[in-house]
Amino acid sequence: MDIQDANASPLLADREGGPCFASANVILGIKAIYFDLDDTLCGYWDASKFALRKVFEELAPDGFNAEEMVRNWAGAFREFSPTLKKTGWYEGYLKSGEPTRTEQMRLTLKRINRFDENLAQELSRRYGAERNQALSLFEDALDVLTVLKERFPLGLVTNGPADIQRQEIARLGIEHFFTNIYIEGEMGEGKPNQSVFRRAAEAVGFGPEEILFVGNSYGHDIAPAIEAGWKTAWIRRPSDIPPSAGPEVMKPEELPANGKAPDATLNDLRSLLPLLAL
Ligand SMILES: [Mg+2]
Repeated sequence: MDIQDANASPLLADREGGPCFASANVILGIKAIYFDLDDTLCGYWDASKFALRKVFEELAPDGFNAEEMVRNWAGAFREFSPTLKKTGWYEGYLKSGEPTRTEQMRLTLKRINRFDENLAQELSRRYGAERNQALSLFEDALDVLTVLKERFPLGLVTNGPADIQRQEIARLGIEHFFTNIYIEGEMGEGKPNQSVFRRAAEAVGFGPEEILFVGNSYGHDIAPAIEAGWKTAWIRRPSDIPPSAGPEVMKPEELPANGKAPDATLNDLRSLLPLLAL
């Protein structure tokens, strides 16, 4: 994920720790498991926040500190991100994270009346590199993928540009776990489109009720998987708060008022094992 998925929200504000509400019963009859990538298997938002802070500490225009810059970046993100699919940016975004990442920096500099094309490009380049370097798997991901790989075909369905998502998978060293990998940028469409779930189900050859989707976004992962007839496990980690969230956002996404409940709501990946009677 690079700029989309803006269900989003705090700057680098502190937030309440502690576990989220979690619930789970055993799910029977699962024959294949698909995972989302960002903030399900790896801490994308944590890497993003770290990298933004670092590049703005080093490269903020005179008179501005890193916190102000991140706040302006967040404001620009909240305006720019929802327009992405309605404008000419989307086609380029599918191939590469660079154009929209750089535009996001231009918009940030414009918000503080310090537009500078060279600086926007430098900020974009450094932010992209620092974010990728800071990206890491959650501490339970490797163990859980290793156990599940012995029992099920595993797949990945991730939104974002082709180059960025491939870079993330390489950085994390997890490609070998997955029989099928579906990337928005490579397919030309992403979650929550039903066609993505149909394609993934056909690839494993099981009925929808035999496939489990594990993801952190209710809107992009859980709701469309439920609509497709899949079983669902919703991961709600306390760290799952985007840098573009307002400072008032202290907790991860809640179940929408009319949202159908997932089969399980979990605080971590390790809780998947008892859910599958392992
Ligand atoms: Mg995600």
